[in-house]
Amino acid sequence: MRYAAFVLTKEPTKTRVGIVSADGKTVQELDLGVDVSEDGIVAILKSDLAGKLPKPISTHAFSDVRLLAPVPRPRRNIFCVGKNYHEHAKEFSNSGFDGSAKPGEDIPSHAIFFTKPPESVTGPNTNVIIPTAVSTCIDYEAELTIVIGKGGKGITEADAMKHVWGYTAINDVTARDWQQRHKQWFLGKSFDTFCPMGPWVVTADEVDAENIPVKCWVNGELRQNSNTKDLIFDIPNMIATVSAGITLYPGDLIATGTPVGVGIGFKPPKYLVNGDVVVVEMGGIGKLENTFIAE
Ligand code: MG
Repeated sequence: MRYAAFVLTKEPTKTRVGIVSADGKTVQELDLGVDVSEDGIVAILKSDLAGKLPKPISTHAFSDVRLLAPVPRPRRNIFCVGKNYHEHAKEFSNSGFDGSAKPGEDIPSHAIFFTKPPESVTGPNTNVIIPTAVSTCIDYEAELTIVIGKGGKGITEADAMKHVWGYTAINDVTARDWQQRHKQWFLGKSFDTFCPMGPWVVTADEVDAENIPVKCWVNGELRQNSNTKDLIFDIPNMIATVSAGITLYPGDLIATGTPVGVGIGFKPPKYLVNGDVVVVEMGGIGKLENTFIAE
């Protein structure tokens, strides 16, 4: 099932949630009885965990709706894994921007985590702001993102997949100079609008997470073209690592890292500039498109 958060273009202040039709032409709104502006699809997720999915109330043509990030304002920071694809780890190490390892130590022995704050989230088809006075070294990162269903602490790798409710995509937008200069990954990945998310969530039963094509285009040029088969730390490992000491809650998000092909992999680096259109595609999930605007 594909679940989306959206507004009607004629009533843009009320967030609704619904099921995207198989042909992608309509969305069937579900009756949650309340505005779910903060929760988005987490409202459905919680109903599903309680065993009582809400009833459909009306069907809207896609031309009458505007999609939002499926979780428009996560309840807390999004967990993210850095350097989690073999080929990207080499690319990042060779770029000179990686302060997390010495040359030659490109494959990490343990997963590297950082977070992005809820306020960095934006939806599909929105503008990502390049704050030119702060940074012009702006890069894209296409990432499969896990939506946690049932929460827990100390989740074992064997049990981890039972806690995955669905998947979406994010673009882990990054100011590379801030990532390099400040010796951590939080600041440069947390600017306002630096976490486009969407276009919706596909439930875990419809996704083979170990074999998802991950692609990214910049202005129609294919830059990233990989597969989750190249992950260094797999999804059970990531969930076990995060939950070892931190309780996970329904609706928590874990971005799983980006494959080879980012802008700093090129010499000279190919940074995003005003007007660039970036499309992230997760095979079997959907396409997430955003325009980058310099301010
Ligand atoms: Mg990333």
